[in-house]
Amino acid sequence: MKWAVWGCALWLASASAHGEWLREEREIMGTRVSVELWSPQRADGQRVIDQVLAEFQRLDQMMNPWDEHSELARLNREAHLTATRTTPEIVAVIERALHYSELSDGAFDISFATVGQHYDYREGRAPDAQLLQRDVEGIDYHAIALNVSERTIQFLHPRLQIDLGGIAKGYAVDRAIALLVSAGVESAVVSAGGDSRIVGDLGDRPRIIGIRHPRREGEYAVRIPLVDTAISTSGDYERFFIADGVRYHHILDPQTGRSAAGLQSASVLSERSIDADALSTTLFVLGVSRGLDLANRLPGVDAILIDAHGKLHYSQELLLSTTP
Ligand code: ADP
Ligand code: MG
Repeated sequence: MKWAVWGCALWLASASAHGEWLREEREIMGTRVSVELWSPQRADGQRVIDQVLAEFQRLDQMMNPWDEHSELARLNREAHLTATRTTPEIVAVIERALHYSELSDGAFDISFATVGQHYDYREGRAPDAQLLQRDVEGIDYHAIALNVSERTIQFLHPRLQIDLGGIAKGYAVDRAIALLVSAGVESAVVSAGGDSRIVGDLGDRPRIIGIRHPRREGEYAVRIPLVDTAISTSGDYERFFIADGVRYHHILDPQTGRSAAGLQSASVLSERSIDADALSTTLFVLGVSRGLDLANRLPGVDAILIDAHGKLHYSQELLLSTTP
């Protein structure tokens, strides 16, 4: 009898909902981008998904440092010589990046790439001590001169290079969500690798988002119900190799030019993806104590950190909401 009632309720729900979930996935920005939305009309929903994926492609073409034709690669070649005019979007992203550099006393620094460019995680290559020593002094966000009103940027250190890998995906997710919302979509989730942002809920309940277990493939360390929130996770398992027992991964401590130690993953919740993205990388570098301090200082920001022993640490507001 119970099952019959259930079946009936489900049938009513789907018959009265007038729509369907649409989902698409693609490799963009060196990661898996996915868009999932509830659409009353399949053709309309599909059109918005195509728009969103095209937007990711456009931003990738602009901000990919490894593509010599990108605007970012051009800046890396030319901005040492003179104040170089660039796109409003790169200016906006760099401005936000510098904001987090200031807030974190340089733990987040897009000029990490001065040294970061010498790592190749796929090939298992890291810079030797000499190269590291030469270029680590070129990691310095103070040497990135941004003129917002003129839309120019200049690098004041001769070897300085920038990479927006710690913030660009978040910016792209926000752009995607803006497109969805202006098209009237009320329930959706957009993800780019470890960055996700959720609009609305699943009708009668929140969406459950899992934070990956940093050491057990396919398992979650935590699951949290989320509505209208961005979440970003930075982990030492995304891009790495191990040599002589040392884990070389893609999040660098700007002070040393070496992979930041202390955490296995850092997740940040906030309203916008650009902030969650930059902050997850930032907190990963800062570690448990300084990372939680920063998260607790910022209104609307929560964090879940997993330390080197696999222990979970929560920011103040999450602790309060999970304590019975
Ligand atoms: P992903 O989703 O690619 O794992 P994360 O948000 O974890 O992204 O950020 C990692 C990326 O951030 C690196 O691949 C690199 O491009 C960039 N990055 C690494 N270290 C720093 C740093 N100290 N400050 C700013 N960006 C960084
Ligand atoms: Mg990030």
